[in-house]
Amino acid sequence: MLRTNFRLFRVFGIPIEINVSWFIIFGLVSWSLVSLYFPTHYPSFSVTTHWVMGLVAALLLFVSVVLHELGHSYVAKTHGVPIKCITLFLFGGVSQLTKESSDPVTEIKIAIAGPAVSYVLMMVFFALYYLVSQSGSPEGVAPVLRYLAYVNGILGTFNLIPGFPLDGGRLLRAFLWKVSGDLRRATYIASKVGGIVGIVFIVLGFLLVFRGAFIGGLWLVLIGFFLRQAAGASYLQVVIDSTLKGVTVGDIMKPDVVTVSEDLSIQSLVDDYFFKYHFDCFPVSDEGRLKGLITVNELKDLPRAKWQETRVGDVMQPDSQRIRAHVDEEASQVLKRVIRDRCGKLPVVSGDRIVGIITRRGIMEALKVFSDLSH
Ligand SMILES: [Zn+2]
Repeated sequence: MLRTNFRLFRVFGIPIEINVSWFIIFGLVSWSLVSLYFPTHYPSFSVTTHWVMGLVAALLLFVSVVLHELGHSYVAKTHGVPIKCITLFLFGGVSQLTKESSDPVTEIKIAIAGPAVSYVLMMVFFALYYLVSQSGSPEGVAPVLRYLAYVNGILGTFNLIPGFPLDGGRLLRAFLWKVSGDLRRATYIASKVGGIVGIVFIVLGFLLVFRGAFIGGLWLVLIGFFLRQAAGASYLQVVIDSTLKGVTVGDIMKPDVVTVSEDLSIQSLVDDYFFKYHFDCFPVSDEGRLKGLITVNELKDLPRAKWQETRVGDVMQPDSQRIRAHVDEEASQVLKRVIRDRCGKLPVVSGDRIVGIITRRGIMEALKVFSDLSH
């Protein structure tokens, strides 16, 4: 998925972000409304009316998706599960909870709130449609309201499909969790169902394509692939969180760490450290205090002729939150960071003293050992 997000505004203190991929769907939806849906159903209206109807409908569809997500977020917040942000992307919205709900009943309430909002919107738009069509309002208003009632109904129903991580899958997981008391097993089953739902979408999509419904079919295929990928990723995340629960960086770091000083020349760094130890990065320290990190990347743009005169301190990445882990930090959080920042190693500090080093491979190995032990 594309990484760039734009922050729009806040509601209830929750930031609303748009992923760039969302513009693709917004464009597609507006285009199909303006040039296909409204002209087919209301051929007597002018082109300008079709445009206004299409844009207003697309915009209100966007508002409907935000309200659906706010439904989840509001209930989560009132149950003590803070929301990081709401992101709108290619396939709709995602409320990013900062943690999993602590019990199945809370999870059920959070999961059901979104579709509930969509169904309420469906009824509101339908009531407005009914009122407007009785009262002879300007042409185009009633069809837009009818369309919005219809898509909110679809939005609520689609999200209730019982494949994790869709809302319906969350409900299924919460139900299994309540019955069995085992969140991990419940997530495993719900995400397997999510994967199967994904396959059904892909197969149905291809059938539609072969029957000539090209855009609708491809759309289903895309959603199917997305569901399969999301189901797998969500399960992996739960496995990591539950396996590494309570495991800190200090528990799995390597305590013996080779550091270099800021005054060391790059030539000596290469000869006496990179070649000797075969590590691809070294913490830079000043009498045990972390000053920065030097990796082979910093040397790539440095001509060999300058290796003698350049010091480690001149080219290192200076100390920052990004390049270190704290000894008390949770291992699962650090794993998320190293994957996101694509770095292999982090010096571990206690205060400003270097006490060890943690590697992505080390965390993955610990993950494997702990998960073998818990079976
Ligand atoms: Zn939802």
